[in-house]
Amino acid sequence: MILVTGATGQLGGAVIQQLLQKMPASQIVAFVRNPDKAADLTERGVTIRVGTYDEPDSLDRAMPGVETVLLIAGTDEENRVRQHQQVVDAARKAQVRRIAYTGRALKDRLTLVNGLMEGHFQTEDYIKQCGLPYTLFQNSLYLDAIPQFLGGDAVFERGIVVPAGAGRVAFAWRRDLGEAIANALLMAQTGNRTYLLTGSESYSFADVAAALTDLSGKSVTYRPAEPAAFEAQLVGRGLPPVVARRISSFIADIANGQEEAVSPDLEKLLGRKPTTLREGLSLLYQR
Ligand code: NAP
Repeated sequence: MILVTGATGQLGGAVIQQLLQKMPASQIVAFVRNPDKAADLTERGVTIRVGTYDEPDSLDRAMPGVETVLLIAGTDEENRVRQHQQVVDAARKAQVRRIAYTGRALKDRLTLVNGLMEGHFQTEDYIKQCGLPYTLFQNSLYLDAIPQFLGGDAVFERGIVVPAGAGRVAFAWRRDLGEAIANALLMAQTGNRTYLLTGSESYSFADVAAALTDLSGKSVTYRPAEPAAFEAQLVGRGLPPVVARRISSFIADIANGQEEAVSPDLEKLLGRKPTTLREGLSLLYQR
Protein backbone atom coordinates (compact mmCIF):
# COMPACT_ATOMS: atom_id res chain seq x y z
CA MET A 1 0.00 0.00 0.00
CA ILE A 2 1.12 3.58 -0.71
CA LEU A 3 0.24 6.20 1.90
CA VAL A 4 0.00 9.78 0.62
CA THR A 5 -0.06 12.62 3.15
CA GLY A 6 -1.52 16.00 2.19
CA ALA A 7 -4.04 13.95 0.23
CA THR A 8 -6.69 16.68 0.37
CA GLY A 9 -4.18 19.22 -0.95
CA GLN A 10 -3.40 20.02 -4.55
CA LEU A 11 -0.15 18.09 -5.06
CA GLY A 12 -1.18 15.08 -2.93
CA GLY A 13 -4.53 15.07 -4.73
CA ALA A 14 -2.79 15.09 -8.11
CA VAL A 15 -0.59 12.14 -7.06
CA ILE A 16 -3.63 10.15 -5.92
CA GLN A 17 -5.58 10.86 -9.12
CA GLN A 18 -2.67 9.38 -11.07
CA LEU A 19 -2.25 6.40 -8.75
CA LEU A 20 -5.96 5.63 -9.12
CA GLN A 21 -5.41 5.15 -12.86
CA LYS A 22 -2.59 2.71 -12.32
CA MET A 23 -3.31 0.64 -9.19
CA PRO A 24 -6.32 -0.62 -7.22
CA ALA A 25 -7.87 2.07 -5.01
CA SER A 26 -7.74 -0.32 -2.06
CA GLN A 27 -3.93 -0.10 -2.22
CA ILE A 28 -3.92 3.68 -1.75
CA VAL A 29 -4.07 5.22 1.72
CA ALA A 30 -4.95 8.91 1.99
CA PHE A 31 -3.72 10.54 5.21
CA VAL A 32 -6.04 13.47 5.85
CA ARG A 33 -6.79 16.00 8.59
CA ASN A 34 -10.41 16.38 7.63
CA PRO A 35 -12.24 13.33 6.21
CA ASP A 36 -15.06 15.57 4.94
CA LYS A 37 -12.58 17.00 2.42
CA ALA A 38 -11.83 13.45 1.22
CA ALA A 39 -15.42 12.37 0.43
CA ASP A 40 -14.58 11.87 -3.26
CA LEU A 41 -11.63 9.65 -2.37
CA THR A 42 -13.76 7.56 0.00
CA GLU A 43 -16.30 7.15 -2.78
CA ARG A 44 -13.61 5.88 -5.13
CA GLY A 45 -12.51 3.24 -2.62
CA VAL A 46 -9.34 4.89 -1.31
CA THR A 47 -8.56 3.99 2.31
CA ILE A 48 -8.79 7.09 4.52
CA ARG A 49 -6.72 7.42 7.67
CA VAL A 50 -7.25 10.54 9.72
CA GLY A 51 -4.56 12.46 11.60
CA THR A 52 -2.07 15.31 11.53
CA TYR A 53 1.70 15.69 11.39
CA ASP A 54 1.45 17.13 14.92
CA GLU A 55 0.00 13.98 16.48
CA PRO A 56 2.46 11.07 16.51
CA ASP A 57 -0.25 8.62 17.65
CA SER A 58 -2.35 9.41 14.61
CA LEU A 59 0.68 8.82 12.41
CA ASP A 60 1.36 5.45 14.06
CA ARG A 61 -2.27 4.46 13.51
CA ALA A 62 -1.93 5.34 9.80
CA MET A 63 1.03 3.04 9.09
CA PRO A 64 -0.19 -0.59 9.36
CA GLY A 65 0.07 -2.38 6.00
CA VAL A 66 1.82 0.57 4.35
CA GLU A 67 4.91 -0.15 2.22
CA THR A 68 5.64 3.32 0.86
CA VAL A 69 5.02 6.67 2.55
CA LEU A 70 4.88 9.83 0.43
CA LEU A 71 5.33 12.80 2.74
CA ILE A 72 4.01 15.97 1.11
CA ALA A 73 5.72 18.99 2.70
CA GLY A 74 3.47 20.76 5.20
CA THR A 75 2.27 24.33 4.92
CA ASP A 76 3.21 25.46 8.46
CA GLU A 77 6.62 26.81 7.48
CA GLU A 78 7.66 27.69 11.05
CA ASN A 79 6.96 24.23 12.48
CA ARG A 80 7.16 21.85 9.60
CA VAL A 81 10.61 20.39 10.22
CA ARG A 82 9.43 18.92 13.54
CA GLN A 83 6.18 17.82 11.88
CA HIS A 84 8.05 16.11 9.05
CA GLN A 85 10.36 14.41 11.53
CA GLN A 86 7.32 12.95 13.28
CA VAL A 87 6.10 11.46 10.00
CA VAL A 88 9.55 9.99 9.33
CA ASP A 89 9.71 8.59 12.88
CA ALA A 90 6.34 6.86 12.45
CA ALA A 91 7.42 5.39 9.11
CA ARG A 92 10.65 4.14 10.64
CA LYS A 93 8.84 2.62 13.63
CA ALA A 94 6.50 0.80 11.26
CA GLN A 95 9.50 -0.32 9.16
CA VAL A 96 7.92 0.71 5.87
CA ARG A 97 9.92 -0.20 2.76
CA ARG A 98 10.41 3.35 1.45
CA ILE A 99 9.88 6.95 2.46
CA ALA A 100 9.50 9.65 -0.17
CA TYR A 101 9.40 13.42 0.35
CA THR A 102 8.39 16.38 -1.80
CA GLY A 103 10.83 19.23 -1.17
CA ARG A 104 12.04 22.04 -3.39
CA ALA A 105 14.53 22.41 -6.24
CA LEU A 106 16.85 25.10 -4.87
CA LYS A 107 20.44 25.58 -5.95
CA ASP A 108 22.32 26.36 -2.77
CA ARG A 109 21.03 26.15 0.80
CA LEU A 110 23.94 28.22 2.11
CA THR A 111 22.99 31.35 0.17
CA LEU A 112 19.19 31.26 0.57
CA VAL A 113 17.68 34.65 1.42
CA ASN A 114 14.35 33.04 2.39
CA GLY A 115 15.51 31.10 5.45
CA LEU A 116 12.23 29.19 5.71
CA MET A 117 13.23 27.11 2.68
CA GLU A 118 16.05 25.63 4.76
CA GLY A 119 13.39 23.37 6.33
CA HIS A 120 13.27 21.30 3.15
CA PHE A 121 16.99 20.61 3.38
CA GLN A 122 16.71 19.78 7.10
CA THR A 123 13.90 17.32 6.33
CA GLU A 124 15.99 15.71 3.60
CA ASP A 125 18.91 15.39 6.02
CA TYR A 126 16.65 13.71 8.59
CA ILE A 127 15.33 11.27 5.99
CA LYS A 128 18.83 10.44 4.79
CA GLN A 129 19.89 9.38 8.26
CA CYS A 130 16.67 7.55 9.26
CA GLY A 131 17.81 4.22 7.86
CA LEU A 132 14.90 3.65 5.46
CA PRO A 133 15.39 3.58 1.68
CA TYR A 134 14.27 6.96 0.39
CA THR A 135 13.18 8.88 -2.68
CA LEU A 136 13.47 12.67 -2.68
CA PHE A 137 11.47 14.79 -5.10
CA GLN A 138 12.91 18.29 -5.37
CA ASN A 139 10.13 20.26 -7.05
CA SER A 140 10.63 23.54 -8.84
CA LEU A 141 8.31 26.50 -8.36
CA TYR A 142 4.77 25.74 -9.50
CA LEU A 143 3.85 27.36 -12.79
CA ASP A 144 0.36 27.46 -11.25
CA ALA A 145 1.70 29.92 -8.63
CA ILE A 146 2.51 32.67 -11.16
CA PRO A 147 -0.76 34.60 -10.58
CA GLN A 148 0.15 34.77 -6.88
CA PHE A 149 3.20 36.84 -7.87
CA LEU A 150 1.68 38.84 -10.67
CA GLY A 151 -1.95 39.14 -9.66
CA GLY A 152 -4.82 37.98 -11.82
CA ASP A 153 -6.00 39.94 -14.82
CA ALA A 154 -4.57 43.14 -13.29
CA VAL A 155 -1.22 42.10 -14.81
CA PHE A 156 -2.57 43.02 -18.25
CA GLU A 157 -3.04 46.61 -17.06
CA ARG A 158 -0.08 47.26 -14.77
CA GLY A 159 2.53 44.82 -16.13
CA ILE A 160 4.94 42.82 -13.98
CA VAL A 161 6.82 44.67 -11.25
CA VAL A 162 8.78 42.30 -8.99
CA PRO A 163 12.37 42.32 -7.65
CA ALA A 164 13.39 39.23 -9.63
CA GLY A 165 16.07 40.93 -11.75
CA ALA A 166 17.10 38.64 -14.60
CA GLY A 167 16.56 35.55 -12.44
CA ARG A 168 15.18 32.50 -14.22
CA VAL A 169 12.75 29.83 -13.00
CA ALA A 170 12.24 26.33 -14.41
CA PHE A 171 8.51 26.46 -13.55
CA ALA A 172 6.67 23.12 -13.41
CA TRP A 173 2.94 22.48 -13.71
CA ARG A 174 1.67 20.99 -10.43
CA ARG A 175 -0.35 18.21 -12.07
CA ASP A 176 2.73 17.17 -14.07
CA LEU A 177 4.64 16.92 -10.81
CA GLY A 178 1.87 14.77 -9.32
CA GLU A 179 1.89 12.47 -12.34
CA ALA A 180 5.68 12.13 -12.32
CA ILE A 181 5.75 11.43 -8.58
CA ALA A 182 3.06 8.75 -8.96
CA ASN A 183 5.03 7.13 -11.81
CA ALA A 184 8.20 7.10 -9.72
CA LEU A 185 6.42 5.59 -6.73
CA LEU A 186 5.10 2.77 -8.90
CA MET A 187 8.51 1.88 -10.32
CA ALA A 188 10.39 -1.00 -8.68
CA GLN A 189 13.09 0.94 -6.84
CA THR A 190 16.11 -0.18 -4.91
CA GLY A 191 18.44 2.08 -2.97
CA ASN A 192 18.02 5.80 -2.68
CA ARG A 193 17.09 8.27 -5.38
CA THR A 194 16.81 12.04 -5.72
CA TYR A 195 14.79 13.55 -8.58
CA LEU A 196 15.10 17.19 -9.57
CA LEU A 197 11.64 17.85 -10.98
CA THR A 198 11.72 20.98 -13.13
CA GLY A 199 10.29 22.22 -16.39
CA SER A 200 12.36 21.49 -19.50
CA GLU A 201 13.31 25.17 -19.80
CA SER A 202 13.91 28.06 -17.44
CA TYR A 203 12.22 31.42 -17.94
CA SER A 204 12.88 34.98 -16.79
CA PHE A 205 10.04 37.32 -15.86
CA ALA A 206 10.73 39.10 -19.16
CA ASP A 207 9.84 35.76 -20.80
CA VAL A 208 6.66 35.61 -18.70
CA ALA A 209 5.76 39.14 -19.85
CA ALA A 210 6.43 38.21 -23.49
CA ALA A 211 4.26 35.09 -23.22
CA LEU A 212 1.41 37.09 -21.65
CA THR A 213 1.73 39.70 -24.40
CA ASP A 214 1.59 37.00 -27.02
CA LEU A 215 -1.44 35.30 -25.44
CA SER A 216 -3.47 38.44 -24.78
CA GLY A 217 -2.47 40.74 -27.63
CA LYS A 218 -1.91 43.41 -24.95
CA SER A 219 1.56 44.73 -24.25
CA VAL A 220 2.66 43.37 -20.85
CA THR A 221 5.96 44.77 -19.63
CA TYR A 222 8.39 43.57 -16.97
CA ARG A 223 10.07 46.18 -14.79
CA PRO A 224 12.45 44.73 -12.19
CA ALA A 225 11.71 46.46 -8.86
CA GLU A 226 14.08 47.34 -6.03
CA PRO A 227 13.42 45.00 -3.06
CA ALA A 228 12.91 47.85 -0.53
CA ALA A 229 10.48 49.72 -2.81
CA PHE A 230 8.63 46.46 -3.54
CA GLU A 231 8.24 45.69 0.18
CA ALA A 232 7.04 49.24 0.88
CA GLN A 233 4.46 48.83 -1.89
CA LEU A 234 3.18 45.56 -0.36
CA VAL A 235 2.94 47.16 3.07
CA GLY A 236 1.10 50.07 1.44
CA ARG A 237 -1.41 47.53 0.08
CA GLY A 238 -2.06 46.36 3.66
CA LEU A 239 0.30 43.40 4.07
CA PRO A 240 2.07 43.10 7.46
CA PRO A 241 5.79 44.04 7.12
CA VAL A 242 6.86 40.51 8.08
CA VAL A 243 4.81 39.03 5.23
CA ALA A 244 6.08 41.66 2.77
CA ARG A 245 9.65 40.78 3.82
CA ARG A 246 8.95 37.06 3.31
CA ILE A 247 7.57 37.54 -0.21
CA SER A 248 10.45 39.82 -1.10
CA SER A 249 13.03 37.31 0.18
CA PHE A 250 11.32 34.55 -1.78
CA ILE A 251 11.71 36.62 -4.95
CA ALA A 252 15.28 37.58 -4.04
CA ASP A 253 16.13 33.89 -4.24
CA ILE A 254 14.74 33.85 -7.77
CA ALA A 255 16.88 36.89 -8.65
CA ASN A 256 19.90 35.03 -7.24
CA GLY A 257 19.33 32.02 -9.49
CA GLN A 258 18.12 29.58 -6.80
CA GLU A 259 15.25 28.39 -9.02
CA GLU A 260 16.99 28.27 -12.40
CA ALA A 261 18.29 24.67 -12.61
CA VAL A 262 16.81 22.58 -15.42
CA SER A 263 16.78 18.80 -15.23
CA PRO A 264 15.45 16.07 -17.56
CA ASP A 265 13.97 14.10 -14.62
CA LEU A 266 10.40 15.39 -14.92
CA GLU A 267 10.24 14.78 -18.67
CA LYS A 268 11.70 11.29 -18.22
CA LEU A 269 9.22 10.30 -15.52
CA LEU A 270 6.31 11.67 -17.56
CA GLY A 271 7.47 10.09 -20.82
CA ARG A 272 6.50 13.34 -22.57
CA LYS A 273 7.33 17.05 -22.54
CA PRO A 274 6.14 18.84 -19.41
CA THR A 275 3.64 21.70 -19.70
CA THR A 276 5.41 24.80 -21.06
CA LEU A 277 5.18 28.34 -19.70
CA ARG A 278 2.92 29.39 -22.56
CA GLU A 279 0.59 26.40 -22.15
CA GLY A 280 0.34 26.96 -18.41
CA LEU A 281 -0.29 30.71 -18.70
CA SER A 282 -2.95 30.07 -21.33
CA LEU A 283 -4.81 27.82 -18.86
CA LEU A 284 -4.28 30.13 -15.88
CA TYR A 285 -5.34 33.32 -17.63
CA GLN A 286 -7.90 31.71 -19.97
CA ARG A 287 -6.37 33.32 -23.07
P1 NAP B 1 -1.75 22.53 -0.46
O1 NAP B 1 -2.76 22.38 -1.55
O2 NAP B 1 -1.86 23.66 0.49
O3 NAP B 1 -1.74 21.15 0.36
C1 NAP B 1 -1.05 20.97 1.56
C2 NAP B 1 -1.58 19.70 2.19
O4 NAP B 1 -0.84 19.46 3.41
C3 NAP B 1 -3.06 19.81 2.59
O5 NAP B 1 -3.71 18.60 2.26
C4 NAP B 1 -3.00 19.99 4.08
O6 NAP B 1 -4.15 19.47 4.74
C5 NAP B 1 -1.78 19.15 4.43
N1 NAP B 1 -1.22 19.54 5.72
C6 NAP B 1 -0.68 20.73 6.05
N2 NAP B 1 -0.30 20.70 7.35
C7 NAP B 1 -0.60 19.47 7.82
C8 NAP B 1 -0.48 18.86 9.09
N3 NAP B 1 0.05 19.51 10.13
N4 NAP B 1 -0.91 17.58 9.22
C9 NAP B 1 -1.45 16.92 8.18
N5 NAP B 1 -1.59 17.45 6.94
C10 NAP B 1 -1.18 18.73 6.79
O7 NAP B 1 -0.28 22.60 -1.07
P2 NAP B 1 0.22 21.87 -2.41
O8 NAP B 1 0.04 22.78 -3.55
O9 NAP B 1 -0.35 20.51 -2.46
O10 NAP B 1 1.77 21.82 -2.16
C11 NAP B 1 2.31 20.85 -1.30
C12 NAP B 1 3.45 21.46 -0.51
O11 NAP B 1 4.43 21.96 -1.40
C13 NAP B 1 3.05 22.68 0.34
O12 NAP B 1 2.64 22.24 1.60
C14 NAP B 1 4.33 23.49 0.38
O13 NAP B 1 5.17 23.03 1.42
C15 NAP B 1 5.00 23.15 -0.89
N6 NAP B 1 4.83 24.22 -1.90
C16 NAP B 1 5.55 24.14 -3.02
C17 NAP B 1 5.44 25.10 -3.99
C18 NAP B 1 6.21 25.02 -5.24
O14 NAP B 1 6.13 26.00 -5.99
N7 NAP B 1 6.91 23.93 -5.55
C19 NAP B 1 4.56 26.16 -3.84
C20 NAP B 1 3.81 26.21 -2.69
C21 NAP B 1 3.96 25.23 -1.72
P3 NAP B 1 -5.60 20.18 4.60
O15 NAP B 1 -6.13 19.74 3.26
O16 NAP B 1 -6.35 19.64 5.74
O17 NAP B 1 -5.37 21.66 4.67
